[in-house]
Amino acid sequence: MMELCNVCDAGNGNAFQKGSGCHICAGKAEGTAKMIDEAAALMSKEDISSFSISTMIPKDWLKNEEDVWDIRMGEARSIKDWLNKSISASLEKKTGLPYRNDGDCRVVFDYESGKVNIERNEIFIFGRYMKLASGLSQSRWRCARCDGKGCPHCKEKGKMYESVEERIGEPFKKALIADEYTMHASGREDVDATNTAGRAFVFEIKNPKKRKIDLGAVANEIAGGVGKGKEVEVVDLAYVSRTFVELVTESHFDKEYEADVEFGREIDEKDGEKMRSIAGKTLLQQTPTRVAHRRADLVRSRKVKEFEIIGMEGKTARLRIKAEAGTYIKELISGDQGRTKPSIAEILGTSAVCKKLVVTEIDDGFLDFVMRTGR
Ligand SMILES: [Zn+2]
Ligand SMILES: [Zn+2]
Repeated sequence: MMELCNVCDAGNGNAFQKGSGCHICAGKAEGTAKMIDEAAALMSKEDISSFSISTMIPKDWLKNEEDVWDIRMGEARSIKDWLNKSISASLEKKTGLPYRNDGDCRVVFDYESGKVNIERNEIFIFGRYMKLASGLSQSRWRCARCDGKGCPHCKEKGKMYESVEERIGEPFKKALIADEYTMHASGREDVDATNTAGRAFVFEIKNPKKRKIDLGAVANEIAGGVGKGKEVEVVDLAYVSRTFVELVTESHFDKEYEADVEFGREIDEKDGEKMRSIAGKTLLQQTPTRVAHRRADLVRSRKVKEFEIIGMEGKTARLRIKAEAGTYIKELISGDQGRTKPSIAEILGTSAVCKKLVVTEIDDGFLDFVMRTGR
């Protein structure tokens, strides 16, 4: 007569003779109650408001339970499903926290070792950043010569530029007592460009020992944390789900820029008239030489939606340009040696160089709509 332990028997309709020489688990599943107590104790020390679980079942249990199914003729009950169901129900009762598939942590029941441990799930925080100083790269830019160790090339810093990612990520890492972070942003500006519009991002923060923090306090620290005055600011911070990563990185938004341009000669009102003709035009832009090392070389068509001259003086002008998502603005001005057509330089028949570029508006109101509707 086949014997099953209390746990395996309960999972199989209490139809067997009970005994510790369990045919499925050899008695190991009987440790479940103790493991649940351990799990509840571990969970009580965590800053969590929901949980999920996973069970690691030795392979031979799965093979052995098929013998039981043979006896029970068609009543195939999986011990893994049974354990998952009964463990999550017990933990809900013991901790008062709800079970969720995307819970704040995953409680792992390892039946091979008889041990329980907790894996903290990532936290995702949405926001928009303003980059108020040039000379910062968006993401971390490690020195390629020393791979971050520090060498003369990078002045022993291990990196070529300070980054927006670190300016935001480090305060979050500290506040959440986390291990690592990654910034997922909606596009990027160049190192030498600034952005006052607010660019949408989602920070993914790994292994946070705290989850509920004062987001406003972190925003203050980001804005004021650096001696040199405000360089990076964040607004609209909110906890979001993982689905926002794709939403933010895959969505493309029209943008407005202010560009300071220097021309090869003095320009006048007639030139201004010519420049304005670019509004409404569709540009053909071959991948700029400056980004060709990381982007496929192809020709895109992008529309210039609005164009305005804010001021002109001698060989310089300040322009306001609104363009479709993905437009290369510096190349729209310079022509990039004929790779962008038409361009301001081509229209005027002289060189035109963008000296300063500020992103002043990003049409991403769609993200707020998704946030309000609670996805
Ligand atoms: Zn058993
Ligand atoms: Zn280096």
